[in-house]
Amino acid sequence: MQRFSAFSLFRQGLDRQKGWKNQWRKPDPKPAYDAIVVGGGGHGLGAAYYLAKVHGIRNVAVLEKGWIGGGNTGRNTTIIRSNYLFDESAALYDHALKMWEGLSQELNYNVMFSQRGVMMLAHNIHDIQVFKRHIHANRVNGVDNEWLTAEEAKDFCPPLNIDPNVRYPVLGAALQRRGGTARHDAVAWGYARAADALGVDIIENCEVTGIRRDAAGAVSGVETTRGFIASQRVGVSAAGHSSVVLDMAHVRLPLESYPLQALVSEPVKPIFPCVVMSNTIHAYMSQSDKGELVIGAGTDAYTSYTQRGGLHIATETLAAICELFPQFRRMRMLRNWGGIVDVTPDRSPIIAKTPVKGLYVNCGWGTGGFKATPGAAHLFAHTMARDEPHPINAPFTIERFRDGYLIDEAAAAAVAH
Ligand SMILES: Cc1cc2nc3c(=O)[nH]c(=O)nc-3n(C[C@H](O)[C@H](O)[C@H](O)COP(=O)(O)OP(=O)(O)OC[C@H]3O[C@@H](n4cnc5c(N)ncnc54)[C@H](O)[C@@H]3O)c2cc1C
Repeated sequence: MQRFSAFSLFRQGLDRQKGWKNQWRKPDPKPAYDAIVVGGGGHGLGAAYYLAKVHGIRNVAVLEKGWIGGGNTGRNTTIIRSNYLFDESAALYDHALKMWEGLSQELNYNVMFSQRGVMMLAHNIHDIQVFKRHIHANRVNGVDNEWLTAEEAKDFCPPLNIDPNVRYPVLGAALQRRGGTARHDAVAWGYARAADALGVDIIENCEVTGIRRDAAGAVSGVETTRGFIASQRVGVSAAGHSSVVLDMAHVRLPLESYPLQALVSEPVKPIFPCVVMSNTIHAYMSQSDKGELVIGAGTDAYTSYTQRGGLHIATETLAAICELFPQFRRMRMLRNWGGIVDVTPDRSPIIAKTPVKGLYVNCGWGTGGFKATPGAAHLFAHTMARDEPHPINAPFTIERFRDGYLIDEAAAAAVAH
């Protein structure tokens, strides 16, 4: 026999009287936003911009746990190129490169995109074969890439040391002339300003701490440090932390997070005309418009969420730079920093729907997602708006790791900045 206490009888009466009957199973409030984007980096802000601009979905919020552009977008070495090996990657990154070419005009904000050329050095027979394979594959895909002899490489980049007697002599190089650099934080600000002008809300200091789902399992909103925000469409673009956020909806991602660091020298007058990358000795360099030599190091060998890389990694990178460019040996380094990159097993990204209705993810860009920013944002917005991928990002699913359709740029290149 069911027993009722005086209190429960009183509560039932009260509930009936005041319409509180189902207060513990109250439906979630009406969606506050038509879409929420988690992560205020270039990818997230850009996705919000394209949701508003291309798809007319303007009631959008970007939720950023810190400040916009404070993640990898503001920490990277800004190398932009599209000379990836596989058809899917070439299509993805060249889509982005073409968008870079008009981005300052599109946003009415100077992102200082500079197509000064990206040159990748070959130091041994294997490098020569790999780069020539890339060049042929790229040309078939309509992506520019060309082979230079060591002398031609030095003509293109006069500070380069092509002495055949060094430990890793330069035997030639692959050059993508349309590649280059941009001003990274300007990309975040440019997208933020343009999205804001279209009505997007950008909410900083707002960390997503949970993802709420309705009785049918679909997304109904996010819990944040500033309270619950309802939306039936949530896109996660939280580089380095995507797996943490997706875990809140019990979606497991094949990602590992690593620290990746970079450093800059004291500023000097213009001396370095292009971007030079050496995969074999793992060093890459360009010169910023402020005059600093921008040097990228490798990822740490262990997973971590610290935004700081090991000192020995930076030291090895500087040793390689000194060997390639002996004239920079006496330059002083001004500052160094790190970011956290999330890496998939095949080193290609995921831009996709998830098994949870209304939940989308753009992640796994590893060490090379800055160059993709406009393209990734554009494709992610398409995926969120239409609930289906664009043909360009259709291969970049989560399921490919289950089904084995990998896009294995990891094996194709030792470094992917
Ligand atoms: C040192 C370094 C050098 C690099 N060099 C290059 C390069 O030369 N070329 C290149 O193409 N790529 C490079 N990359 C990679 C590139 O920076 C990234 O792939 C790209 O910037 C990712 O952009 P994003 O907008 O997705 O991420 P981010 O800019 O990191 O934005 C993600 C945002 O999500 C926020 N966030 C995380 N969790 C939450 C949460 N729970 N709630 C709310 N917000 C949250 C973070 O605070 C962050 O601001 C480099 C990266 C590093 C670290």
